[in-house]
Amino acid sequence: MYFSKDYREARLKFLKAAKKAGADISEHLHPLSSDTQKLAMNTAYVGDKNAKHLIITCSGIDGIEGIVGSAVQTMWLDESFHNDLDKNVAMLHIHAINPWGYANNRRVDENGVDVNRNFVPNFANDRDVIDIGYKKIADKIVPDDWDRNNTEQLFRIYREYEKQDKLKEFRKIATSGQYTNPEGIYYGGQGHSWSMLQVLGIISSNTYNKKEFSFIDVHSGLSKVGKTRFLYCHSLNSQAENNVVNTHPIASGRICSTGFISKNVIRGNMLSFIEEMYRDKMAYGGVFEIGSQKDREATGRLHGFNVILRVAKEHSAYKDYMNKGDTYNLSKWKLHSCKLKHTVAPIDDVEWQIKSLKRARLFMNDAVRFMNSRSNGLFINQNSWISDVRRKRS
Ligand SMILES: [Zn+2]
Repeated sequence: MYFSKDYREARLKFLKAAKKAGADISEHLHPLSSDTQKLAMNTAYVGDKNAKHLIITCSGIDGIEGIVGSAVQTMWLDESFHNDLDKNVAMLHIHAINPWGYANNRRVDENGVDVNRNFVPNFANDRDVIDIGYKKIADKIVPDDWDRNNTEQLFRIYREYEKQDKLKEFRKIATSGQYTNPEGIYYGGQGHSWSMLQVLGIISSNTYNKKEFSFIDVHSGLSKVGKTRFLYCHSLNSQAENNVVNTHPIASGRICSTGFISKNVIRGNMLSFIEEMYRDKMAYGGVFEIGSQKDREATGRLHGFNVILRVAKEHSAYKDYMNKGDTYNLSKWKLHSCKLKHTVAPIDDVEWQIKSLKRARLFMNDAVRFMNSRSNGLFINQNSWISDVRRKRS
């Protein structure tokens, strides 16, 4: 009941749940919003405006993945998780960071920009946007016309790297963000996107009077059905790292595997940017990644190669459609975007829905309990498994 068939329905469900929760709602209209297709980033704030502690949740930075994030946020609102908050803690849900991508079954925004590679401190600074190898493989990843040979070619490149034990390098070249090829995958753009600027505005205007905030950025796609992961980016042994690993003791120990996002590996990612920007405030959080992959093409040791392949095929079909503009290419693109959609959100699978929502409940319980403990000074401290996370990082 929390999952929706498209962005339009998801937005309405979110707003309905927000109203029911008595939330303070805001709407940030997208430049391409129209009477026939309303596109917006919506927010719902629940709790005391003067609360000193805030839990922020986000969905849909990767467009189409908003299907999962939106369902989870709507559930958190509808099932009143905010009722468990202490007086000095509030909650802010940011819905559909990239509404155009969500509405059009794409990962990227209307300019082909991957929003989660767009949080670049300074586009004029070469160090932030230098090409690290994408140019070399660009035409193989997003060819003019995708056929069977292209799939095999991409697999071949992948296996070459695998054979040399250089999968990390392959992932870095393909997915860490590139700033030279607007038609390519994981293109971070050449300037700050609408989505990025809106999010920063929303976070600033909701946290200026806060002492501390945590954030949960909901994603889907990287792991298999039934698995969840929790990824964060804070510096080793920092207070933020200590807090973020303590926030989700149950989730991280029991239902999630944990990992680390480095801004060198995923350039221009939102979390690293927020960490940097709010150094003077206590800000911490991570990506809550809900597994969704069922596809047999998922292969090898690289997490998410299937997603790379799907994203690449969709990009290639979109490029063809943009260049040729005929109905054949339109339907080809629709087919590939539909396949991408079902890779990141197998919404026909009710069992997957139930399992995903169940884990999201446990996850939010942790976040609420920890932030309550921060606000009343009785800090939960479960160091027992921090060392485990740190071992994995080194
Ligand atoms: Zn994602």
